[in-house]
Amino acid sequence: MLPLIPYPQRIEEGDGSPEIAVGKDGEPVFGRVKSDFLPEEGYELFIGEERTELKAATESGYRYGEVTLNLIASAGNPSTELRIHDKPRYRWRGYMLDVSRYFFSVDDVMKQIDFMAVMKLNVLHLHLTDDQGWRVEIKKYPRLTEIGAWRRRTLFRLKRHGGYYTQEELKSIVSYAHERGIKVVPEIEFPGHFTAAVAAYPELGCYGEGARVAETFGIKHDVACLGNPAVIDFIKDVLSELFPIFTDEYYHIGGDEVPAVRYELCPKCRAEKERLGAGNWAEVQAHFVNEIAAFLKENGKKTITWNETEPTGIPDKEIIWQYWQGGLKEEALVKEINAGRTVIMSPAKPYYLDLPYSENTLQAIAEYKDVPEGADPDRILGLEFPLWTELVPDEETAERRLFPRLLLMAEKAWRGECESSFLYRCEEFGKVLTDLGATIKKKVPLPPKGLKGLLDVMWFNRCRLYWGAIPNLIRNAKVAKIAKQRIKETENEK
Ligand SMILES: [Zn+2]
Repeated sequence: MLPLIPYPQRIEEGDGSPEIAVGKDGEPVFGRVKSDFLPEEGYELFIGEERTELKAATESGYRYGEVTLNLIASAGNPSTELRIHDKPRYRWRGYMLDVSRYFFSVDDVMKQIDFMAVMKLNVLHLHLTDDQGWRVEIKKYPRLTEIGAWRRRTLFRLKRHGGYYTQEELKSIVSYAHERGIKVVPEIEFPGHFTAAVAAYPELGCYGEGARVAETFGIKHDVACLGNPAVIDFIKDVLSELFPIFTDEYYHIGGDEVPAVRYELCPKCRAEKERLGAGNWAEVQAHFVNEIAAFLKENGKKTITWNETEPTGIPDKEIIWQYWQGGLKEEALVKEINAGRTVIMSPAKPYYLDLPYSENTLQAIAEYKDVPEGADPDRILGLEFPLWTELVPDEETAERRLFPRLLLMAEKAWRGECESSFLYRCEEFGKVLTDLGATIKKKVPLPPKGLKGLLDVMWFNRCRLYWGAIPNLIRNAKVAKIAKQRIKETENEK
């Protein structure tokens, strides 16, 4: 069995016993043939007795053919001649790493890029900011990393945790990814999941005084003020510093899980709602997102957000939605897609890699239909698999969450479905991953079952109970007091 994940679309076996010639550098030697008839990322690889030949139309086609050839050669000479016809089902084959909840070093990120390259994934989405940490150096706003990159404790340890990437380090990550044919999408999350920024610059929130970088996870209430024009300026400044670093065309600006607790109390936000004639806060937020998307477009970028929970019809049709579910039912998604919205499929079930193995099982991943019934398939840009790290404190834990699931997901993103020999190939793929520095043993361990699986779910749900509800309540009581005080002051001034 060839040690290939994803498995190629079609393999023809011939006679003869080929010997793959190897060069001085230890890499297989092959002939490159340009073939304009092949699809953009596709390739045709022939391994015969006389020669090894790789046909492709583009550099990425050659790259994927070479990945396949190297994997085959690493297992020795094939037993028969092979002709492999291969091309991906989806253009967008993404993996998201959340570096905000826990900080991952540059080396760890590069190691994960190596894993991606061998699985033919082509988009790395870095979730760079959230309530629990701001991870990107912004020269105009140094407090974002002096204060916003550090929290007093985490769920696992009662000690300070944090870190951030300098702009130079991010450039090195991007160029490392580009050398492996992988695009990098930065995500700066607005206006929710914004506590780390508010902790650094309280004036960005509606009532930012006393806000601290979040220590627990869940949905926090210290979001960006929608009625303060300085917030839009801040966002534009931040994005402008990122343009020379993240040179690919896609930018993610978050947009999910925005509670309106603060807006209701904030005179600026209420005035903005009135000015727009908006019926609810989701509409105000949609206008806010449109303004940032327009700025990105002026700078040659395409905007991605998480899907809107309640479609308001306001977000610009050019904004790409990353479908993670939230409160959006599949029927509403289909309606949105058929009205012209492009979508990346990342449903929490079954594609969130942090969820327990007993919830997002291999079977659920294999069986999930990536094109919802009735949706225009051409509007599905592709698939993306997120690893949220609220419960993933280090690289070793990350790898336990990734493998074997990400292997199966990569196979789906490339082939459109899973090939029946997956489990066998997956165990054997362990050597490929350990050669790239993975901490797993020789074989990829299969997911825990029975009692172990049950304990996995129980542990996850116990942690979920800790979703910051109590810290939110305490903080809300403080903010209500400040709001009342301000209203009183305004009345006295009158
Ligand atoms: Zn406000």
